[in-house]
Amino acid sequence: MNSSKYKIELVKGDITKIKTDAIVNAANTSLMGGGGVDGAIHRAGGPEILEACRKIVVKQGGCKTGEAVITTGGDLPAKFVIHTVGPVWNGGKYDEENKLASCYKNSLQLAVNNHCKTIAFPNISTGIYHFPKKDAARIAVKTVKDFLSLTDKIEKIVFVCFDDENYELYNSQL
Ligand code: ADP
Repeated sequence: MNSSKYKIELVKGDITKIKTDAIVNAANTSLMGGGGVDGAIHRAGGPEILEACRKIVVKQGGCKTGEAVITTGGDLPAKFVIHTVGPVWNGGKYDEENKLASCYKNSLQLAVNNHCKTIAFPNISTGIYHFPKKDAARIAVKTVKDFLSLTDKIEKIVFVCFDDENYELYNSQL
């Protein structure tokens, strides 16, 4: 990507350490925390995030697959956490690809609505939800680039890869 308006960065590491306006969480429909990156975000961000999630649950009963909600970042360096629910991989015949693209799109739209200019994403669905990593990387990069081509409100996207395999896959996509 060589647009002067924004940039896409690739980082290997822990998303809870990233200081962007928002970081995205690969949450589950209950919004009540879980393993993987979800657990790491709640541990590092403290109880304020779970409290905010509870309020959302009371209001709208959780979060559907492909959709996103926003909370405080609590004790994290990021101001906000955008919780999105990736699809569980079920062989590919259950609209998993579109649902994963929706996660990226809806997270970005929610970020823009909340005036976030810098956003960090984990590799949604590629952990416990078993989405094939190569396809997930392709969908993530394409969806983000397509979104960025339609807005000038975002300055920086950071893809945060926790494992070497994802890092290499994103590296070849970008
Ligand atoms: P999902 O249920 O959507 O698959 P997971 O949390 O199991 O969510 O995995 C999503 C991705 O997040 C995986 O690639 C996993 O390696 C990665 N991950 C786990 N912990 C962290 C972390 N602290 N920072 C960034 N990525 C993480």
